[in-house]
Amino acid sequence: MTISRRALLAAVPVALATPRLAFAQAGAGRVVIIGGGFGGASAARFARDRFPALDITLIERSQTFTTCPYGNLVLAGRRTVESITFGYDRLAARGVRVVHQSVTAVDPAGRRVRLADGTDVPYDRLVMSPGIDLRWGAIEGYDEAASARMPHGWIPSLQPITLLARQLQEMPDGGTFVMAIPDNPFRCPPGPYERISMVAEYLKQAKPRSKLIALDAKNGFSKQPLFQDAWEELYPGIVEWRGASSDGRVMRVHPATMEVETEFGEKVKGAVVNVIPPQMAARIARDAGLANQSGWCPVKPATFESAQVEGIWVLGDATIAAPMPKSGFAASSHAKHAIACIAASLAGRAPPAATFFNTCYSHVGPDYGISIVGVYRPGPTSLVEVEGSGGISPRNATMSPQRRREHRHLEALYADGWYESITNEMFG
Ligand SMILES: Cc1cc2nc3c(=O)[nH]c(=O)nc-3n(C[C@H](O)[C@H](O)[C@H](O)COP(=O)(O)OP(=O)(O)OC[C@H]3O[C@@H](n4cnc5c(N)ncnc54)[C@H](O)[C@@H]3O)c2cc1C
Repeated sequence: MTISRRALLAAVPVALATPRLAFAQAGAGRVVIIGGGFGGASAARFARDRFPALDITLIERSQTFTTCPYGNLVLAGRRTVESITFGYDRLAARGVRVVHQSVTAVDPAGRRVRLADGTDVPYDRLVMSPGIDLRWGAIEGYDEAASARMPHGWIPSLQPITLLARQLQEMPDGGTFVMAIPDNPFRCPPGPYERISMVAEYLKQAKPRSKLIALDAKNGFSKQPLFQDAWEELYPGIVEWRGASSDGRVMRVHPATMEVETEFGEKVKGAVVNVIPPQMAARIARDAGLANQSGWCPVKPATFESAQVEGIWVLGDATIAAPMPKSGFAASSHAKHAIACIAASLAGRAPPAATFFNTCYSHVGPDYGISIVGVYRPGPTSLVEVEGSGGISPRNATMSPQRRREHRHLEALYADGWYESITNEMFG
């Protein structure tokens, strides 16, 4: 079996997919990192391993971190939440000072952050990777109370995926699973479509008379032809996807009747309703003045230092990093470069040249994975995708059935390898 250059790039272990760095002697300094998720934990580990002179404090409000990646596999019954939940003990054992507190304020002029218990933590350089918040009310009627009946399952620390999984398991055979999907930008562009696939996989085996209706606020989505090929092949008659021009945009929800209402007033009722609402940078980033009117944080593309507040590096989903997607892989790539820039700045050197990597894998069915790969460099005002550097898995029609099975199987294995390697890098 031969593997394409793109697939090989997709399979590169995360630890190797770091920016090119000059690992010269770094200056010493106190680096405080807010958020122990994909960006923050990667930054802490990378800083600890590569720049021993740095004093690293990681501030994370939760005792454990449950990943969004592989959360959709919990819906298919393939994973448990325990298997995608990690603690911070090993990061602490490596010499990262881990503080489990909520940061309530950032004082860029005084170079310190305030914790919920009133403690002030001083820093020389601050890294923030606090993730996202949901825009409650952006879909009329969709607030925190509504999300208990119509789960989002999009921020594990806010709502465990088990709520949606339980509703799915309790749904009668013949019931309809309704999804509302937001417009760009949002966390994990292929995530809703992997979710459609994993729910369909479950329905096919456990509730074959059921249907899934996905109502989308956009007309196109990441890896669309690949997902749609797979739904046709694996889940015929189960998945119906409607884009914005087919009245797919959900404007309001009615939790009491389990209905969602579209732009042109159609009410769609579900036995289970999964609403993924519009999003924005997490509150602490907005409160610190890092976000612009879009609700997301502009950064200098060559360094990931905030474009609005000096001395703060912003990573991950909270940033405006398009065309890079909001993904865990991307957050980890931002993290490594930002730490290298911080080490350089503390040593009085110019920042290293930047190259950023991303691969988004999606599980679509048993032994069936697909991916999209991108390599990015800084342009004058934003990141730019390096032409011809990445790509997307080939479509079904371009391969023989035997070759297709092998290819999809390999990509499912690469996905598992990526997940194991990135979580090991963050928490191992
Ligand atoms: C269903 C789904 C599937 C996904 N699948 C993939 C995938 O296959 N591959 C992939 O690359 N990406 C995937 N993603 C996207 C990925 O989860 C995010 O892009 C990634 O988590 C972003 O990292 P982050 O560091 O920006 O935020 P997070 O990982 O969310 O980390 C933010 C952390 O900051 C903490 N925090 C926030 N505010 C404070 C505060 N004030 N004080 C202290 N701590 C604070 C939070 O508790 C949290 O732990 C998926 C997402 C979803 C929803």
